[in-house]
Amino acid sequence: MHDDPHAPIRPATLSWEQGTPLAPAFDDPYFSRDHGVAETRHVFLDGNQLPQRFAALRRERFVIAETGFGTGLNLLSAAALFLATAPAEAELHFISTEAFPLRPQDLVAAHHHWPQFAELAAALQAVYPALTSGFHVLTLHPRIRVTLLLGDACQRLSELDAEVDAWFLDGFAPARNPDMWSAALFAQLQRLSAPGASLATFTAAGFVRRGLIEAGFATTRVPGFGRKREMLVGHASGLWQPRPRPQGRVAVIGAGLAGATSARALAEAGYQVTVLEAVGVASQASGNHAGLLYTTPSAHPTAQNRFYQSSYLHALSWLQRHDFPRQPGDGRRCGVYQLAPDARHARKHAEALASGRWPDTLLGAAPPPWPAHSLWLPHGAVIHPPAWCRQLLAHAAIELQQCSVHAIDARADGRWALHSDHGCHEFDQVVIATAAAARQLVGLDWLPLREIRGQTTLCRATAASSDWTDAVCHSSYLTPALDGLHCVGATFDLHRHDAQPTPDDDARNLAALQQHLPDAWQQLGGEQIVVAGQRVAFRCQSSDFLPLVGPVPHPDTLAPQPGLFLNVAHGSRGLSGTPLAADLLVAQMSGAPLPSDRAIVAALAPVRFLLRQQRRADEG
Ligand code: SAM
Repeated sequence: MHDDPHAPIRPATLSWEQGTPLAPAFDDPYFSRDHGVAETRHVFLDGNQLPQRFAALRRERFVIAETGFGTGLNLLSAAALFLATAPAEAELHFISTEAFPLRPQDLVAAHHHWPQFAELAAALQAVYPALTSGFHVLTLHPRIRVTLLLGDACQRLSELDAEVDAWFLDGFAPARNPDMWSAALFAQLQRLSAPGASLATFTAAGFVRRGLIEAGFATTRVPGFGRKREMLVGHASGLWQPRPRPQGRVAVIGAGLAGATSARALAEAGYQVTVLEAVGVASQASGNHAGLLYTTPSAHPTAQNRFYQSSYLHALSWLQRHDFPRQPGDGRRCGVYQLAPDARHARKHAEALASGRWPDTLLGAAPPPWPAHSLWLPHGAVIHPPAWCRQLLAHAAIELQQCSVHAIDARADGRWALHSDHGCHEFDQVVIATAAAARQLVGLDWLPLREIRGQTTLCRATAASSDWTDAVCHSSYLTPALDGLHCVGATFDLHRHDAQPTPDDDARNLAALQQHLPDAWQQLGGEQIVVAGQRVAFRCQSSDFLPLVGPVPHPDTLAPQPGLFLNVAHGSRGLSGTPLAADLLVAQMSGAPLPSDRAIVAALAPVRFLLRQQRRADEG
């Protein structure tokens, strides 16, 4: 295992021998050229009895986990079998670890061998992630999710929360790659196994067998593939039973970015969703004319920075999957320039670029005439958030109700009653996505949320500005024109609570623009800039700047209140943070594999503030 658990990823260096990819570092091929597909079928699919188990599924979820993703041949084989044999209401989660991922072009070259998987291979290539350390959740097919854990297998599995039904143990040959066959790794397999989970591997090496037995698996030697006399299959103790896919009625309170992404993720997972919204879709902080989807790159892989990086990548994958923006007024995938407003930011930018944690497909130095230390995020986007929210909410399993929820209480049967100006309705689970207003609900006044007033200024595009494609942030931001209007902003006032826009704030926004982007200010009209509108909204931020995503704890016992969840405090990062937050919530609500490592999950959990309070009380 590497000393730094979050060390930058080094892609695989392949050599090709008559069309078969080889890993020189391990002196081993990824698969056998002539029999790769048949070997996978024999060792991993039949070894785990997947043909029978897939065919017997009903409205259930099946979770496979693999060590050693390589070319994805095992994934493609399992996915093809699943789609051919499992019923349409079943879903597959495929988790895999990979320390030395293939570069995208090598993946494509390897996939050429298997015309029978062409469609799934193209889908995999389209969602194959940027090669950054950590968790990447990919949608291979509406019924197949892939969680690719980039980094050392044992390290990444120790950060995972999931219940696995079948294991594919596919490191390189045990003698050449002992890290993939260690007692510590086998202990992780045991921890993550559902009762009766199966395993299969191509090897029958004695130390592998002994290690698996020591970790608590029953193992059997069975005939191997081709020239390999034997291989191992095994299972964890207990009776294996498939687990049902989620169903039931969920209420999402609030229809901003947090609510809309939560509702969409819930609906796609199989829930019936009612979104309860007092004013209208994207009526508060998510209602600005334009926002930037970008991130603030860092060289330091703290849980907070890992959340920023992975949520940014996850948000980009949501845009891709939902084919957003579709209309010119809904946004543009224009890339974002990030200027360094001061020496501290300049240093931070330089460190991020030098760290190796940001592949150059994700981040580069902006060339002159951009000022020194400016960054370029080629995948960043400008988005009209209300259009994004409306598109997410347009799903057959989502119903939107205009009403104001003033109380929530737990019923004896475990359901939740929501009291609103339209009466009382019951739900199986509830997601509160009402930003700082969450504090007004009974039992939530302890939430450390604050509101930060921000005014954005809309400037009419000029002949010179209307074909700009650059979105820029400095201490604040400037967007390309959407529907003829540039968005400039936003002010940042912690102690003002008046919702009325003021001309003074427009003047502050334009002065900042003039200072940081004098050419743009000039092209927009200089002193004659036409201000066509303005808007005040309140960002909701927590005391440690991270959002609150997860179960609502009981304020006295700190135990999670079953079925009650929070998704708030995305600050000014809602466009990038909310898609991953939504998928995390749905995984927590439904028992699916979590899409983030345990440290990130803990860093977002609302209970963290109560735990800190308790720790301080114990110490003091
Ligand atoms: N299942 C793969 C497929 O379908 O193409 C083939 C896997 S190949 C035999 C073994 C893989 O394990 C390689 O891709 C290698 O980079 C990866 N690997 C080696 N050591 C690792 C480690 N410590 N953690 C995670 N992956 C590792």
